[in-house]
Amino acid sequence: MKQFKIACIPGDGIGQEVIPASQVVLEALALGQSQFSFEFTSFDWGGDYYRQHGIMMPADGLDALRSMDAILFGSAGDPNIPDHITLWGLRLKICQGFDQYANVRPTRILPGIDAPLKRCTPAQLNWVIVRENSEGEYAGVGGRAHQGHPIEVATDVSMMTRVGVQRIMRYAFKLAQSRPRKLLTVVTKSNAQRHAMVMWDEIAKEVSAEFPDVHWDKELVDACTARMVNRPATLDTLVATNLHADILSDLAAALAGSLGIAPTGNIDPERRYPSMFEPIHGSAFDIMGKGLANPIGSFWSCVMMLEHIGLDQQAQRLMQAIEAVTANPKLHTRDLGGEAHTQQVTEAVCQMLRH
Ligand code: ATP
Repeated sequence: MKQFKIACIPGDGIGQEVIPASQVVLEALALGQSQFSFEFTSFDWGGDYYRQHGIMMPADGLDALRSMDAILFGSAGDPNIPDHITLWGLRLKICQGFDQYANVRPTRILPGIDAPLKRCTPAQLNWVIVRENSEGEYAGVGGRAHQGHPIEVATDVSMMTRVGVQRIMRYAFKLAQSRPRKLLTVVTKSNAQRHAMVMWDEIAKEVSAEFPDVHWDKELVDACTARMVNRPATLDTLVATNLHADILSDLAAALAGSLGIAPTGNIDPERRYPSMFEPIHGSAFDIMGKGLANPIGSFWSCVMMLEHIGLDQQAQRLMQAIEAVTANPKLHTRDLGGEAHTQQVTEAVCQMLRH
């Protein structure tokens, strides 16, 4: 029997509700299976850890995660701690430390979900956004000088490397190739940004030669937002820079009905390190501790994790259970206009898995 070691990092806010719920669902999935099992290890890193220790995670934290098969992450964010500390001190530390350079975000309108695009059927919206997750606008390069003086200056320098762009393009073309439509849109802004984005476009063209069966086009990021709303069916796989994809994927999540549904994976495609899976929503302190958190985004992240560790059939089983549950409006949480609580949704998914 293969035992998969899964690290659980609930983090802050509703992460502490949706990650334990995900563990319950994964345990239900593994129940009675003779081929595999899960061994979960939980880590209490995040805002409370920071209040006690002055850091979001221990200095040698990555070593504790290194031997894991995958990481399930909740969220990092705390109303009393600056955002740059919670983000750089935990989530980005793991993403960067383990060179999880491909951030992958599928978007679909699940059965039963009332999404805002009235002219769009669920079959017309089936995207995967690939976000460059290691450099670009969020490389952390820049600084401040003359702080507090009238001549104060601050820079955030977007940094793109040939290797970084090549590897994310290859990943995106390969992913597009694996999907039925074999269609890739390269999101750019090379009309206004004349250096890095022009290199981005050039490398896309170079890499495309390796994938002659993939149809691809280029779209400016601003035009892409309109295309997502007006012509969703013309998109399938998208690749974009760290900042552009950050914004586009929130739009995608909203168009699919709720932030509470959308999943993501931070992937090391070379599998040198564990990859990390998380719902895209944040800590949502406004609803914390009330049982209102929608755990579907977290469950769908588990589906991505199962695919990543090679349990494709189990991934399908869990996705079917999730879709059966979203199809029932009585099992919708408040963000979807329903009244169900986290625990009811979790129990319903477990029940579907038992059938
Ligand atoms: P952070 O600062 O950590 O990014 P945030 O609270 O600013 O967190 P999000 O958590 O991403 O931002 O979400 C914004 C709002 O959407 C929340 O305040 C909450 O009301 C709602 N929301 C987000 N995720 C969920 C969820 N899983 N279930 C229900 N509502 C959600």
